Amino acid sequence: MSYDFNVRLQSCGHEISMERYVIDWEDFRTLHLASNVILNMRAPINGISLVQVYIGSQLVQSNDPLYGYTITPDINRVQTDNPNQFYKIMFKRPVRWFVPLIEVSYITVKNFCLKCGTAGQLNDIKPASNGSVIHTVGTDKMVQRVLKMVLTSQCEFYPQFTCPIKGYVGKKFGVTVTDVDISNQIMVALQGLKSIQSAQRTVQSLDPQEMLKDIQNLQTTVVDPNSVAVSADITSYGTPNATPVSFSLTTSSQLVGQ
Ligand SMILES: [Zn+2]
Repeated sequence: MSYDFNVRLQSCGHEISMERYVIDWEDFRTLHLASNVILNMRAPINGISLVQVYIGSQLVQSNDPLYGYTITPDINRVQTDNPNQFYKIMFKRPVRWFVPLIEVSYITVKNFCLKCGTAGQLNDIKPASNGSVIHTVGTDKMVQRVLKMVLTSQCEFYPQFTCPIKGYVGKKFGVTVTDVDISNQIMVALQGLKSIQSAQRTVQSLDPQEMLKDIQNLQTTVVDPNSVAVSADITSYGTPNATPVSFSLTTSSQLVGQ
């Protein structure tokens, strides 16, 4: 049985890891952002003592005799609308290595964080840069499991542990399929999911939050002639609060009255 990603949001620590820097080609001391050498640091530093500078993948201390460095306010980069202080890192002595690999790890602030994309929160799925992948974000594992079961489950060997809802697509609503059918089938399928989880729990550990406990207020309504909406409140063994789940089936031709 496959499992989905954990997409519960977690707060981000705004750690920037191994950002590439290069040495100023005139003073051989000041670090510039490798991808934009006009800048010193890409982002504000939140906690100078936590900055880590690596040369050739080796961590160097700020008091290193050869590569010791200082971190001082970048007086040329003051943003009046932004209270975050920019700094610059400077080697105490000129470093004239031929193109040394310099990487800096540090903690920044939310508005400059590449890790969480300034959202302040993280989950297991990172947005694809080309935007081509649709992600589910902010939905509990249990909710995903329930929706997956209701909308996509299929098993030719154990059809009794699936939900026939997707087979309703294309059927005439109100004639072959009614709202009561949909509610009943979902209820049957979710009771099946509870059985599956009970069995699953005997061979692997499940979070209480991902275990379906109860289904309440299950309603199937015909919103308009072209769509049916299903909603329910589901509870887990993890939290006392019910989580609302809903989806709708929409068609381009009328569902009813044909
Ligand atoms: Zn962040």
